[in-house]
Amino acid sequence: MFDEFSSGQPPRFILGETLLSWVMRCLGQNKLRNPHLFRGAINQSLVPPKRMVPGVVASWPPPAFEDIEFDLDTMLFKVMHDTYGTGATVLRKQFAARQSGLLDIHFRHTYCPACLLESMVTNGFPIWRQSWCYTTSVYCVEHRRPLMRPRDTFTPERRIWDAYLYSAGEQTGRSSLFDRRIAGIAIRMQHWIESLIPGQELTEGVEALYGLLLAKRTTFAPGGIASVGFSRTQQVLCRLNLDLHERIKYGLNDSDPYQRMGALLLTGWLSGMVSPAEIVYLGHHDHCVLRTLPPSPQQLGRMVTLTLSAEEVMVVRDKLVKLGEISSTMMSSFLEGFDEATSRTLRSSRPKR
Ligand SMILES: [Zn+2]
Repeated sequence: MFDEFSSGQPPRFILGETLLSWVMRCLGQNKLRNPHLFRGAINQSLVPPKRMVPGVVASWPPPAFEDIEFDLDTMLFKVMHDTYGTGATVLRKQFAARQSGLLDIHFRHTYCPACLLESMVTNGFPIWRQSWCYTTSVYCVEHRRPLMRPRDTFTPERRIWDAYLYSAGEQTGRSSLFDRRIAGIAIRMQHWIESLIPGQELTEGVEALYGLLLAKRTTFAPGGIASVGFSRTQQVLCRLNLDLHERIKYGLNDSDPYQRMGALLLTGWLSGMVSPAEIVYLGHHDHCVLRTLPPSPQQLGRMVTLTLSAEEVMVVRDKLVKLGEISSTMMSSFLEGFDEATSRTLRSSRPKR
């Protein structure tokens, strides 16, 4: 019998793990050939920023790490190829991103504790899943429970063990009827948003709405409706004056799964994928749903314009119009409300003669 080490074959990939997770696991179990090259590639890609102002922690932008989990052009993939001769096709099939909304590598902290504990039992090492690495990652489909995000953020090579230690100390209670129902709704929406085809009008409209709902609050601008309404923890106020694009990018990356669930729920409500009866049920059991969802979609449209400046409203309008692809009366009402408020904003912002 020959083992993986002497056969020239790379140690076995586990379906759905990230490349970094595979490398960390194989390094930890001493299974890699040329381990120093793999370690070197990781360290080089995750070099901390050179210029640091003492006493100032900049929350945005994140450090310019290379995406050694999904970007096939990075050094880690090259080392993998050079060491084992694994071709681009195999690497792409195993490790490339399945959707467009990847989280920045610095912000990939969300995980399912049950998955981590199970992978430790099965493989002797906790495994980081690709399905946790997207801006729409909200629930673990297998365990039907919300993903977790630790209070502190960790560097990419440290997060596996830190998250595992959190998970090991966590008590898992039985899920209630409400937990199961909200899981069903959130997973339905998560599947739907993941199934949208990149580049299509509908997808662009949905992405624009989802991003707006999660936009980061700053000292200079209000936050997205889901970001504010579904926030369970006290957030550090961002003191940077960011433009809308940056606020959306920051919000998508920094939001926690509960805020994302709120954005999915609002999107589902407007597109008719979540029924009014389901909304009423959720509102009875979850005060964030109750306080965040306005009585009508028109009102939500108006609320969205309030989070934007006059110039931003015009940019957003061009994107949200694409939501007209969804034939639901709720969505039409939402767009009407947005349009009404938009024309009012534009009238009042026009210079008086
Ligand atoms: Zn899980």
